[in-house]
Amino acid sequence: MRIDRDFARELDSQDELSPFRDRFVIDDPDLIYLDGNSLGRLPRRAIELSQSLVSDGWGRRLIRGWNEGWMYLPERVGAKIAALIGAHPDEVIVADSTSVNLFKLAFAAVMARPERSTIVTDDLNFPSDLYVLDAVAKSAQPRRRVAVVDSPDGVHGPVEGIAQALDTETALLSLTQTVYKTAYCYDMAALTQMAHDCGALVLWDLSHAAGSVPVQLNAARADLAVGCTYKYLNAGPGAPAFLYVRRDLQEQLGNPITGWMGRADMFHFQPDYEPHPGIRRFVTGTPPILSMAMIEPGVDLLLEAGMDRLRAKSLRQTGYLIELYDELLKPLGFALNTPRDPTRRGSHVTLTHAHGWQIDQALIHEARVIPDFRRPNHIRLGIAPIYTSFSEIHEAVLRLCSVVEQGLYQKYDPDRAGVT
Ligand SMILES: *Cc1c(COP(=O)(O)O)cnc(C)c1O
Repeated sequence: MRIDRDFARELDSQDELSPFRDRFVIDDPDLIYLDGNSLGRLPRRAIELSQSLVSDGWGRRLIRGWNEGWMYLPERVGAKIAALIGAHPDEVIVADSTSVNLFKLAFAAVMARPERSTIVTDDLNFPSDLYVLDAVAKSAQPRRRVAVVDSPDGVHGPVEGIAQALDTETALLSLTQTVYKTAYCYDMAALTQMAHDCGALVLWDLSHAAGSVPVQLNAARADLAVGCTYKYLNAGPGAPAFLYVRRDLQEQLGNPITGWMGRADMFHFQPDYEPHPGIRRFVTGTPPILSMAMIEPGVDLLLEAGMDRLRAKSLRQTGYLIELYDELLKPLGFALNTPRDPTRRGSHVTLTHAHGWQIDQALIHEARVIPDFRRPNHIRLGIAPIYTSFSEIHEAVLRLCSVVEQGLYQKYDPDRAGVT
């Protein structure tokens, strides 16, 4: 393995996706952004689109905009996301946040298995997912129980433990396909099969997978899924989330938060609720058009690049980063907290270090590298293959080395923690 800068440049020159970088706003080339797994970069097209949507759409079309495309924007954008995650276009819709969608679908699933008492998940799951599953278990009648299966090593998903936990009492298995802390990826088809074998439904959170890890919801026979758009889909801060319900389940499940936007013939204003046919019933209230429209430019770029090519590049890049870690970072006290097995690895690489928080702060404030940090000491280096270059990865590792070798981190307070 070559660790020189020229090798990184060679890798960039061989990269057929490198032209996509120019389709994003990158006006500070010295700043290395490795946090696309928390907030993706701004696609250039989103600037024009937001300006015309505000001035022409809101400004001039006013209420008429609803009949000129806004009303069915959730379906339209959902259909495009469906193409990225191996689903039919009428199985995905955009609404609410990931947490809220998780509640809606988990509750619907539990209600569809009235005789069963448990929801199974793992301790690697995103905290919000655990809180929501807990809320679902407490709000359901009768009350359900959440069984949280522990990872054997804090890195890999507890596949064997889940197999043991699943039984005829399980109503729902809910997992995050790519684990936020370690980038471990579950085998979606295998776990879905395991749950189906005991009659449970499965709900996948795709927040860290959509746009970086190819997911085949239909091929895996997945029942339900939710996910973020502001991470690898590059839709902007707080952009609404998506949800997937397999076709044959759509009429069987109910949205627990019934609202007029998910009602059949919503403008008849009947006092009784009757669900809209198909996926639309999982919408509750008025869609946030300005931020929902911002999902499309990023998704279009990913569709143009193609998930297979993006995955191939992502694996080359995380593999390259892990090789640089072996050569340069491991000797400085870092440890790898991400699977080496490429089939089980998502698109970020997590490193731990005894001074993790201080190093993170020094990286941001002294070395112009923006990573991502999760307590207690996880530095996550997110690779968004659509715009991250090999040279950036190389340079980030060199800067990480100098932060440690020169002791630049020592002046930061080890006890404070913020957003990144
Ligand atoms: C980012 C993320 C979320 C965020 O949910 P919000 O409702 O958008 O705040 C939820 N789950 C997972 C697994 C995530 O990675």
